[in-house]
Amino acid sequence: MPTASTPLLQTRLVHSGRHGPTVNAPVNRASTILFDTVAELTEAKAKRFDKGTTFYGRFGTPDVFAFEDAVSVLEGGTASLCVPSGLAACVLPLVAFLAPGDHLLVVDSVYEPARTSIEKFIARSGVDVTFYDPRIGAGIAELITPKTRMIYLESPGSLTFEVQDIPAITAVARERGILTMCDNTWATGVFHRPLDLGVDIVVQAATKYVVGHSDAVLGLLTVSDPALHRTLREAANWLGYNVSPDDVYLAARGLRSLSARLRQHHETGLALAHWLETRPGIARVIHPGLASSPDHALWKRDFSGASGLFAVLLDTEEADTAVRFVETLSIFAMGFSWGGYESLVLIGDPAHARSATEWPEKRILVRLHAGLEDAEDLKADLEGALKTAGLDRS
Ligand SMILES: *Cc1c(COP(=O)(O)O)cnc(C)c1O
Repeated sequence: MPTASTPLLQTRLVHSGRHGPTVNAPVNRASTILFDTVAELTEAKAKRFDKGTTFYGRFGTPDVFAFEDAVSVLEGGTASLCVPSGLAACVLPLVAFLAPGDHLLVVDSVYEPARTSIEKFIARSGVDVTFYDPRIGAGIAELITPKTRMIYLESPGSLTFEVQDIPAITAVARERGILTMCDNTWATGVFHRPLDLGVDIVVQAATKYVVGHSDAVLGLLTVSDPALHRTLREAANWLGYNVSPDDVYLAARGLRSLSARLRQHHETGLALAHWLETRPGIARVIHPGLASSPDHALWKRDFSGASGLFAVLLDTEEADTAVRFVETLSIFAMGFSWGGYESLVLIGDPAHARSATEWPEKRILVRLHAGLEDAEDLKADLEGALKTAGLDRS
């Protein structure tokens, strides 16, 4: 039984990062911070990278620091950092820790814009990049060279949903002093704790479930080691990263209901996934929470739940049929991103988003996000569209 001195995560997410007399931290809109004396200004400058010091708007304000403390609770780390977007969070550790000549290993199922950023900027600045099979596990050891400095993980991938054997990879990395980072956007710390599995840096797009309402873009980084936090914080500043206090406010507000919302996304997503497995017109459901998934055992071992994002393979190779299917859906709306309260659909193209592994499947992949609508209405929407598209001829 939890006691008052050891509250469970849901309780801590409601109460953490509350420093002032109001329930919600007031929004600080600030560029200039004022000082009464030169001594105070000089001291603030010397301590400007220490968390909690207000020096200039870009270095953070009390509302941002309070939210970062709550994010550390979410991920089970000691320090967190807000950055302008999820993609900025993915890229920051690479810029902060890699130098020309270093070798970087990146999971082949990585969020596609992160892949583009790595190919366009990180590789071009003299870092040697190798993409690896998401299911490589301890086999990662064979790809490591004396120059390997970092391993980039994302589990599960947000289009193809392979779950990585994180403990197997971090065991190899720790033995060799290689830094690891993991994109935890899909599950968040509510369902998955990469830091507990030996990862050094957790990154996520708060844009998705933390904000939860599709109305702000924000990235988060969390670490256990204060030295890593310091380096990331300095790098964010020297790169000119700045976060909007209004977006941080929305994210802090979203965080309070995160675990309640995720429980519903989990339930609805799995209900739809199980149901879709029985529907004519659906060739396969790709969801690690299904017993039919090759990743199910790892998911059960390392995750305590699933979010609402998964994919199906339609029983067709015809693009027109898939277009008809997604355009007929009316509750599932079409658009990028996910993690908000609304259900979304997108046609995916995994074959073009990987380089180390093949995606031999020709049948068309459609990604679904189960929102907070009633699951029965979502089923009816899917059933109608499968029929209209001619995928379900029953
Ligand atoms: C959306 C997403 C990001 C990027 O987040 P933005 O805030 O849109 O930049 C990074 N990783 C994953 C897995 C995502 O789904």
